[in-house]
Amino acid sequence: MTTTPRLCVTITAPTTAELRRQRDLVADADLIELRLDSVSDPDVDAVLEGRTRPVIVTCRARWEGGGFSGSEDERRSILRRALERGAEFVDIEWRAGFADLLAEFGPRVVLSSHDFTGVPADLQAQADAMRATGAGVVKIAVKATRLRDCLTLLDLSRRFGPAERAVLIGMGDAGMATRVLAQRFGAAWTYAGLVRDVGQISASRLLEQFRFRQITDATAVYGLTGFPLGHSVSPDMHNAAFAEAGIDAVYLPLPAADADDFVAFARAFGVKGASVTIPHKVSFLDRVQELDDLSRRVGALNTLRMDGDRWSGCNTDVAGFLQPLRDRGVTLRGCRASILGAGGSARAVAVALASEGARVTVHARDAQKAAIVASAVGGDAGPFPPAVGSWDLLVNCTPVGMQPRIDVSPMPPDAYDRGLVYDLIYNPAVTRLMRDAATAGCDTIGGLDMLVGQAEAQFRWWTGVSAPTGVMRTAATRRLAEFNANENHVV
Ligand code: NAP
Repeated sequence: MTTTPRLCVTITAPTTAELRRQRDLVADADLIELRLDSVSDPDVDAVLEGRTRPVIVTCRARWEGGGFSGSEDERRSILRRALERGAEFVDIEWRAGFADLLAEFGPRVVLSSHDFTGVPADLQAQADAMRATGAGVVKIAVKATRLRDCLTLLDLSRRFGPAERAVLIGMGDAGMATRVLAQRFGAAWTYAGLVRDVGQISASRLLEQFRFRQITDATAVYGLTGFPLGHSVSPDMHNAAFAEAGIDAVYLPLPAADADDFVAFARAFGVKGASVTIPHKVSFLDRVQELDDLSRRVGALNTLRMDGDRWSGCNTDVAGFLQPLRDRGVTLRGCRASILGAGGSARAVAVALASEGARVTVHARDAQKAAIVASAVGGDAGPFPPAVGSWDLLVNCTPVGMQPRIDVSPMPPDAYDRGLVYDLIYNPAVTRLMRDAATAGCDTIGGLDMLVGQAEAQFRWWTGVSAPTGVMRTAATRRLAEFNANENHVV
């Protein structure tokens, strides 16, 4: 059993005064990294004075991805001053060659190396050379472009003896596991902060969403896999449900280059289950040992579960789509259901509606694609858009109206007379299509209900218990509002 890594919050600011102010605003951290290379007026004494937490003083040179543009002698003086003034740690780049500082202050040196392009071929030799210097902590950060790069770092962590301290980081989205599961990498600490281009996670997200301080060897790992992942609310929903249900589990974004990449990572970290999104919804079909009938009919799965050493796959999009209709008591048998679009979600919706006895018509701008989706469920292809009065239930399975282009609709504004309009888009919560339909007297359902429904079904399948009521919806709504405030739109 390894010990829980500490949490180090990285602070950057334009001036020393602001760096100090930010330092004092940190609410929960074991260590604070003060990035003196981010300020225009680096002043060691000022940033160290009055601190209440241990610090790492970093003054990264431009040649190592930092912001310091002065000479190497100036940099060395700043770092020496920090060590002499009692900074608990000072970060020195391995390639800087400040041997005098290492010799004099070795145990307080974080010897660091960064590769922003990938994993160097000689990583092990490099790590051994860094270990041999006697630095207190060896920090190696490499750009992770696939999940397997985390395994390279996991292997590397095994070279460090129990008395040696290391921080091994995969920079970028594919390396997020090295930050959240730092404990599995034997890390002395994990860095949190707002340096987004290296894939840092904010301290609040690490602590509140991923429950960083509770993660142990026993914590079950789940995740969302696809490529690329972009912004997703699934980690918010599942982590909130695990926390509320008191389940020792964490759910991570796991952007896998391909199915093999995910499987290799999942084996090494004992991943128990995953939500699956594009393009792996199809590529995993022939990788699982067990597959439910719905996935076969849809031609895509969206959930994986590890049963012993076998992967099972299922499709909860169908149940997630139907749930809001059931909740509203909608009778689907004999209902004239028109689907807009002929992509992945249209296939799941067509299977769902047909399985409940609806008369399915698929309308897409590409008539051939509409015909393929329709024929798979014994339905028809129709004109795009469908004629007024030709449907009882209209389901939008196109992205038209999604953030940021929220003022458009796949339907003309006067194309309704009655019926129920169900838009799969969940950002925004109320789309232009829904507004137009409501104005014309139709009932409407937004995509958040389905998003929550499919996630709740995944949670049940993985854990055998229901997600606590309302928790996933609240988490998703909160994150969507944050994304929209920052204009990072969720797709
Ligand atoms: P997809 O596989 O890419 O399919 C999109 C479909 O929309 C295709 O048929 C595409 O036609 C059509 N389309 C795209 N732009 C169009 C336009 N301007 N006019 C007319 N048709 C257009 O996407 P998907 O996975 O089915 O997702 C579709 C939407 O559903 C997305 O907004 C997604 O966020 C949402 N969704 C929500 C949930 C949920 O849980 N609420 C679940 C899944 C999906 P072409 O083939 O001709 O390009």
